[in-house]
Amino acid sequence: MSKSLASFLVESAQHVPERTAVRFMGYDTPFAELEDASNRLASSLQNLGVGPGKHVALYCINSPFFMASYFAILKTGATVVPINLLLHPKEVAFLIKDSGASVLIYHSVTDKAVQAIAQNLDSVEHFIAIGDTEISQAKSYSALLNKGDRAPVLVEPQSEEDVAALLYTGGTTGLPKGAMLTHKNLISNVRSVIEALHLGQQHDTFITVLPMFHSFGATVGFLAPVAAASTVVALPQFQPEATCKTIQDENATIFLGVPTMYAMMVNLPTDKNYDLTSLRYGVSGGAPMPMSVLEKFEARYHVTIYEGYGPTECSPVVSVNPIGGKRKLGTVGVPIPGVEIRVLDENGQEVPAGEVGEVCVRGDNVMKGYWNQSEETEKVFWGDWIRTGDLGKMDDEGYCTLIDRAKDLIIVHGINVYPRQVEDVLYQHPAVAEAAVIGIADEYHGEMVKAFVALREGQTAEPRELIQYCRQHLGKFEIPRRIEILDSLPKSGAGKILRRKLRDIEAEKKA
Ligand code: AMP
Repeated sequence: MSKSLASFLVESAQHVPERTAVRFMGYDTPFAELEDASNRLASSLQNLGVGPGKHVALYCINSPFFMASYFAILKTGATVVPINLLLHPKEVAFLIKDSGASVLIYHSVTDKAVQAIAQNLDSVEHFIAIGDTEISQAKSYSALLNKGDRAPVLVEPQSEEDVAALLYTGGTTGLPKGAMLTHKNLISNVRSVIEALHLGQQHDTFITVLPMFHSFGATVGFLAPVAAASTVVALPQFQPEATCKTIQDENATIFLGVPTMYAMMVNLPTDKNYDLTSLRYGVSGGAPMPMSVLEKFEARYHVTIYEGYGPTECSPVVSVNPIGGKRKLGTVGVPIPGVEIRVLDENGQEVPAGEVGEVCVRGDNVMKGYWNQSEETEKVFWGDWIRTGDLGKMDDEGYCTLIDRAKDLIIVHGINVYPRQVEDVLYQHPAVAEAAVIGIADEYHGEMVKAFVALREGQTAEPRELIQYCRQHLGKFEIPRRIEILDSLPKSGAGKILRRKLRDIEAEKKA
């Protein structure tokens, strides 16, 4: 038997039963209540046949319902399969089928999507609706809670290799793959995050607007706070002004975001003035933080941002700039405790400090493999090192700089162009709110650089003017030959800008 990820909730409920574990729409759920709800739901799930070896899909907004369900599933010994709320119903059906989930717990906001696919979900034996639903065979979440036994449930994993969560990630092959994160993986990453982010030393209040279905929003957004007996203020949707107001009103101490969130907060009109100085710090991760956004955010709100990094396959946190220590802007910091980074060349040999190679990671946080995809699993491991697909370099003090994703590299006339460098320049232009750069096929150059840009509210700029601006700051082959202005750029459920979607749009246009 080994420790369950759910024991973090059990322990905090014993230590600080009265403290608010999660605040949602003005309603507080103390740790004792979250623990009780997860026990009662767990016992009802057990009556539906849920237990070790079973998969339960969770399709829910950031809320106490998400957290109670997540812990309830773990307590039965089953595996949680969180579903991205922004997926098309067809993609949701794919994930649920691929995972073989026998139960689907869904929030009423997803009811239409579930209705659209319910007939095709052959593996699903029970639908559980949080709130109203049109699906007649669905069971009610609140009825299951009310009927559930209050006695503590905690089925411990048979081995620390038992899978706690199956997290689907975009992957390079097009079809999403389920990263199997074990109890050991997630417990280890939560503990390392607590240490690296200096949690548990005071009563912190987190603003969790990063989606809980995503690895960053799960491990840092609610698992680490629950383990550190902190309070989570759960926001189901990111709106820059509402988020700033919540930070101010809640006297929040920690904000977690992806760079597009920070950019939108920076771009709020200057008469919208919010005091965010209750924050001890902000953490940015999930995508490269443009230097201009970081600088403007810190100048406007007087809050330090620490950039970190990690892929889902690593539970996900790999590195962060040391809190209160030496911050190196433009880097993703140093590996967190228990995690190692090595930069390897295409033969798996370590490259010297300062040279670019593939960032590889080793540690208890590294996933067991991809669900039902042994070939993909084999490809992604070099021994016990996982290949992240990210190009980067280490300096002689152990700070890691990410250059770009290997597959996003653009090769113009044989010269490597890193989209991120072009995007960073575009972000410095005063009219630019969002930028993404891809390579498009070009008969003469092999590939050429194309940029997509969204402008800041009330600003105008012509593509020609932006190209001219790039000319002043970039090498010949890096200058975008084309710039297309969109209202906003396509983003993932976690708020990351999706170059992949832009490539699809280009391919469609060509076809
Ligand atoms: P996902 O597993 O979908 O969350 O994506 C993880 C990927 O996001 C990583 O492999 C990186 O390519 C990217 N990423 C995460 N954090 C950063 C960061 N701070 N800077 C640049 N890229 C990042």
